Amino acid sequence: MRGYARATVLACVGLLAACAAPGPGGLKIDRSIQAVSQSSRVSVVVLHYTVADTPRALEILSKRNVSSHYLITDETPPRVFQLVDESRRAWHAGESAWYGRSDLNAASIGIEIVNRGPENGGWQPYSDAQIDTLITLLRDIVTRHQIHARNVVGHSDIAPQRKQDPGPAFPWKRLAEAGLARWYDETRAMQRIQHYQSSGLPPVRDIQEKLRRAGYPVELSGTLDAATRKVLAAFQMRYRPARHDGEPDAETLAILDSLP
Ligand SMILES: [Zn+2]
Repeated sequence: MRGYARATVLACVGLLAACAAPGPGGLKIDRSIQAVSQSSRVSVVVLHYTVADTPRALEILSKRNVSSHYLITDETPPRVFQLVDESRRAWHAGESAWYGRSDLNAASIGIEIVNRGPENGGWQPYSDAQIDTLITLLRDIVTRHQIHARNVVGHSDIAPQRKQDPGPAFPWKRLAEAGLARWYDETRAMQRIQHYQSSGLPPVRDIQEKLRRAGYPVELSGTLDAATRKVLAAFQMRYRPARHDGEPDAETLAILDSLP
């Protein structure tokens, strides 16, 4: 008995919070045994730009009916604010889908980056310091929640009909080089460009199926409608930002074929 009591005390030293916290109505809840079969509820990270500057973004994201877990400012050095606990739902994704899953607020962490977005016909760049900060933050999040690189996405990936953020100025390749986002096999893409240049592009339905296999929410309508063009534009902004007009071309198809 004495030995058992000592073991319990030792267990409580290790699991101090678990043992000390009483349950509701004074219930004693024993949290000393934790199941091996469990995982994080978070499987996606969504990146956004704020359009607003830091003070305004903080005001909007903390006091209105929109929020994010983190905000990275454009100060030197950037500051990181956590506005919502990771265990809770932030309201950042809106109507969206990725690999067929909707209600992404329930399964994602949202990171807002202070950037004005489209401006005077161009796009404001992100600073290296912002991206370095993001990479440090993301590496920790992705490791703790075991998030796959293909599930680190932009708002425009999951809501291509409504959103453009983080925009074509966002350096996705830097994130990919840090192992934190998906990128394509560039050698294979070169070969596929030649293939499409000599054989022509596939039917629109095939293009839609390829986009869907890459995670994008797109109807298999078989016609190059406005909705499909928006999905293509979102894809291009991320992987071929030099031209993101939503027009299918050999390079876009080649990249689509070369995703891991
Ligand atoms: Zn957004």
